[in-house]
Amino acid sequence: RAKAAGEGTFARYDPTMHSGLVDRLQLAADLRRALDNKDELELHYQPTIELRSGTIIGFEALVRWRHPVRGMISPADFIPLAESTGLIRPLGQWVLAEASRQCVEWGAYDPDRVLTMAVNVSGRQFDQPDLPAIVAGVLADTGLPAERLCLEMTESVLMTDTEENLAVLLSLKEIGVKLAIDDFGTGYSSLAYLRRFPVDTLKIDRSFVERIGGATPDAALARTIVQLGQSLGMATVAEGIEQYAQFLALRRMGCDLAQGYYFSRPLPAEEAGALLRDPAALVA
Ligand code: C2E
Ligand code: MG
Ligand code: MG
Ligand code: MG
Repeated sequence: RAKAAGEGTFARYDPTMHSGLVDRLQLAADLRRALDNKDELELHYQPTIELRSGTIIGFEALVRWRHPVRGMISPADFIPLAESTGLIRPLGQWVLAEASRQCVEWGAYDPDRVLTMAVNVSGRQFDQPDLPAIVAGVLADTGLPAERLCLEMTESVLMTDTEENLAVLLSLKEIGVKLAIDDFGTGYSSLAYLRRFPVDTLKIDRSFVERIGGATPDAALARTIVQLGQSLGMATVAEGIEQYAQFLALRRMGCDLAQGYYFSRPLPAEEAGALLRDPAALVA
């Protein structure tokens, strides 16, 4: 154990810090293995509801990791690890392919229904100049029409490596996929950037939806984002609707689409498929 001359002068041996690092290395090795042998990874699907009609128009794919020892690990915990180790690229590619395949499978069941599939794409994936080629490959392999795939990114993608990311986004637009900004309102994107980037959809962050009908109800920010979307010709999606009052308020504001526990939690593929076959199971 390092003996400090004065308090805080030397780094002390800290067993919790040590196990933290070893832990992260172990978890990264586990994730690498899970990516080779995909049975620990799965996608859950949360429906997207059209507020006007109350019908399911598509799903968002959300990755899950069922670790053999640690149990279910939240993406909030392992996506940052995947990003810092570069594993986000194979992981992201697997998510894209699996979600697209699932969307085609559901479409085959009911050809009259045009379902969209939203996939979260990390900022680290936009660093790959070949992201458009990867997306085009997945569309070709699965047969999913481009306009039915929506890629969700955070505002940081617009604000960092701007020129490179703009080029990637323009190529993706050329392929025909939709682009959405996730958690909109929590970052620092300026209106000028929003106009410059070829974005189709704004997803209103859950924190703004929460303030509607909460302890201190404040609908002003959600309403502002809906109006912003309308004036820029972008669709708006409310994230995290949990209450009937929020559903009504957002619909009244003219918000187009919504997701949230009020309608459905993210579900394993089989249960999400059952929801499609029996829409009465949905609250809306
Ligand atoms: P996100 O894309 O903003 O997804 C929404 C998150 O909010 C999901 O958490 C979802 O389960 C949760 N949620 C949905 N409705 C409600 C609600 O009514 N109330 C509350 N309290 N929560 C709700 P999840 O699945 O844990 O995912 C967390 C984040 O991890 C996602 O946020 C996304 O940023 C990231 N993520 C998930 N899957 C992927 C993936 O395949 N690739 C990448 N790069 N990131 C992913
Ligand atoms: Mg998302
Ligand atoms: Mg979100
Ligand atoms: Mg969010």
